[in-house]
Amino acid sequence: MDATANHADVDFVAVPTPLIDLLDDAARRFAGRPAIDFLGRGQTWGTVADLADRAAAGLQALGVGKGVCVGLCLPNTPYSVILYFAILKAGGTVVNFNPLYTERELAGQIKDSGTRIMVTLDIAMIQAKIGRLVDQGLLDRVIVCSMVAALPLLKALLFRAFKARDLAAVPDGEVYLRFDRLIAGAAKPKPVVIDPVQDIAVLQYTGGTTGTPKAAMLTHANITANIQQVLAANPTIGRGTERIVGVLPLFHVFAMTGVMNLGVAIGAELILLPRLDMKLLMATIARKRPTMLPGVPTLYTAICNAAGAGMDLSFIDFCMSGGAPMSLEGMERFQRLSRCPILEGYGLSETSPIVTTTPPDRVKIGSVGRALPGTIVEIRDPDHPEVVLAQGARGEICVRGPQVMRGYYHRPAETAASFVDGALRTGDIGYLDEDGYLFIVDRIKDLILCGGFNVYPRVIEEAAYQHAAVQDAVAIGIPDAYRGQAPKLFVTLRPGTAATEAEILEFLQAHLNRIEIPKTVEIRESLPKTMVGKLSKKELVAEEMAKVQA
Ligand code: AMP
Repeated sequence: MDATANHADVDFVAVPTPLIDLLDDAARRFAGRPAIDFLGRGQTWGTVADLADRAAAGLQALGVGKGVCVGLCLPNTPYSVILYFAILKAGGTVVNFNPLYTERELAGQIKDSGTRIMVTLDIAMIQAKIGRLVDQGLLDRVIVCSMVAALPLLKALLFRAFKARDLAAVPDGEVYLRFDRLIAGAAKPKPVVIDPVQDIAVLQYTGGTTGTPKAAMLTHANITANIQQVLAANPTIGRGTERIVGVLPLFHVFAMTGVMNLGVAIGAELILLPRLDMKLLMATIARKRPTMLPGVPTLYTAICNAAGAGMDLSFIDFCMSGGAPMSLEGMERFQRLSRCPILEGYGLSETSPIVTTTPPDRVKIGSVGRALPGTIVEIRDPDHPEVVLAQGARGEICVRGPQVMRGYYHRPAETAASFVDGALRTGDIGYLDEDGYLFIVDRIKDLILCGGFNVYPRVIEEAAYQHAAVQDAVAIGIPDAYRGQAPKLFVTLRPGTAATEAEILEFLQAHLNRIEIPKTVEIRESLPKTMVGKLSKKELVAEEMAKVQA
């Protein structure tokens, strides 16, 4: 079989659609039905769409229109959804910001994107009401860096549910405007004509865990195509009765598409949590009995650890893990609670994000599934990317499809370097089996070059996960005088288990090739994670480099 001919589609063609149509359709089809649950407070689709319309009109009055970038810097709240769609309705482009960013990072992204207005929350104001959200002073940080970046406008939003007394304590300042004022004008925005194929809906910053952050330009058509593709590949979802957990941060591409946009498209109730607090999450799961739980591998592990013995999660009938490799062991543990398979999805910011998913009727262990309908996955020689490799060969995963970004914002050289013959180079290494299932081997940039051999950290991590005491595992390359680089493994242990570093090393010696055996194993209390919950290597690499330089 030709390595490119793996797509599962027969006649699928994505229909280029403006993103805002998703919310308008939900409002039409499900007006009185629950749209969002936030800590027990509910809103219907009719209310969400109405607030988005009003906010869009308010944004237009502030000058938002075609091509104007508006930053969303929020933990998950109903306003993340309302303002996302309001910005798009006003004709603007959403720029997703991580609310944990420092002033320097915020200012860098504001400048790079040319963001004109920032939407944020006064966390200090609301944390007394709903518990610790992210940290104090989000508004302060945004104000400071926006002044530095000389933003013409900065708007802060507060919950409508706050009592008048609380709101009165925060007067409109020169640099910010309250949400209730934003929506006080016209009920409907002026209509904007969107060209879904050309117009950029979202600037999605990526490269945060590795290189310099840069913005993937995702058009309306990119994102709505990805939703159409996921629905075409999973005909059982979209019954109109789903309840979907939104604990992954919506500013990350996986939750933006896989929780929010997918949820809106099928009229699911979005159960939003402002932060990953396991007590709150478990209580919310028990209260709402969700049917869909998109997650990253560490989230499923945390749920298994938090679930009491005999806890039944069988009301969940759709789980999709993405963003990072899911271990077989982690998958099996979770399935014992939910009794539904965790489907894997593979993708990246540049692909809106989903490229492959596991077909629900045929899960292959260790694979991230098949290309979504309308998507072509090619495996190319990383050193000669013009060469497409045969089925079964390992190489760089390259992608074509309607969900592939237009390019990086203001970065023509990096855009050109990331495409070959029109296919996106993902920087991931993998191979396709005879049924078109994709297996990810590793990232090119994470490869450990050990005495002239390529060592894939993932192989070491997978072996470590087979040890009964290992909870999380991260392998990196450390400088080695003799071999150039050598593998080092960091692990955390499962609660209630015990193991020594020597025992884990001995276990790995029995499971790995000589070249892959870590030079050292280090047990840690915890391992660094990205905001979305992926295990992160960059801090560990920096620590090891600092040791060498010291
Ligand atoms: P980001 O653009 O930050 O979402 O990161 C995308 C990267 O995450 C991809 O290039 C892969 O290296 C990794 N990734 C995403 N999904 C998976 C998965 N299911 N298995 C393994 N790695 C994944």
